[in-house]
This record gives sequence, C-alpha cells and structure tokens, in this order.
Amino acid sequence: MKKFFQTLSKIWNDPVWSKVIAVAIVASVSLIYATVQNKTEGVSFADSFKKILDLKVKIIYIAGAIIIYLIGKRIFKRKDSFYNRKQTKLREFNKLEDKQNFILYRWGVFFDYETPFISDLTPFCTRHDATPIRFVGSSCPIAGCNNNRQQINLHLAKNHIESVLIDEWEKTK
Ligand SMILES: [Zn+2]
Repeated sequence: MKKFFQTLSKIWNDPVWSKVIAVAIVASVSLIYATVQNKTEGVSFADSFKKILDLKVKIIYIAGAIIIYLIGKRIFKRKDSFYNRKQTKLREFNKLEDKQNFILYRWGVFFDYETPFISDLTPFCTRHDATPIRFVGSSCPIAGCNNNRQQINLHLAKNHIESVLIDEWEKTK
C-alpha cells in the first residue's frame, strides 16, 4: 500500500503525468455527469452537451487552481523547508573581498539553533586576472605571488567574518 502511494505521488509530481491525470479527471467527471443527466432527467443531447461545456469550464478552473496550489506549495516547501526568511537572507552573506590584500573569502552560513556560524571558509587570491585562485593551506599556490609569500591567519579571518555575521543577525531581530 505504501509503495502504491509512493508511485502515485511520483506520478503526480511528474509535470507531464499530473496534466494527463487532471485531463482524465475532467473527462471522467464529464462522462459521469452526462450519463447521470441522461438517465435521470432525460435531457436532450444539445442541452446536455452545453451543460457539460459549462461544467468543464468550471472544473478546469478548479483543477487549475488545485494544480497551481500544489505547485506553489512545492516551491515554497522546497525553499523554506530548512531556513526561514531571515535566515535565508543572512545566508546570502557568503563572501567578502579583502581588496587591500587581494583576497576573496567564501563560506557557508549555518545556524546552531539561533546563532549563525560559518563553515568551509575558503580564501581565494584575486591577483591573477579573472579567476580567483583558491589558497592551498594558508597561502596562494602561485609562485612569486605576494599572497604566496605571506601566510594568512584563517582563524582570525573566521572570527572577523563571524563577528560581522552575528552583528547583522542581531540587527534583523
Ligand atoms: Zn596569488
């Protein structure tokens, strides 16, 4: 039974199959409606056809609304499943360029309960044309580069960035 629902959910989440199912639902309801009308009220074909058309328009609206609702729900669920709006905004602060020393820092923002922290802090050297070169250890790997001779203190950089991050976080409260 669980497998059946999983398969059903998979089919429903498929963009093409969900449309096919929606059309099938509309068609089945129309057919049932026409049969009931014909059997119980003896409505003429033309009237019945017109009624089905009217009903179909309504059903298409309802089906359309349901599909839009489901798609919207899925999009928002995906976006907000892990981080709330404020956290998502703060997570955008994930890089900083030290223009004086030609170092670009990139990192990820995560939360320890309510307190933000950074992870995977990686420095890049921006002294080499368009592409920032990732540091190896605490210096630029390109021989002769200023950032190759000087070593940076990643621990201090991390502390500085986290201080800014926590300050930004406090301001949003
Ligand atoms: Zn360099």
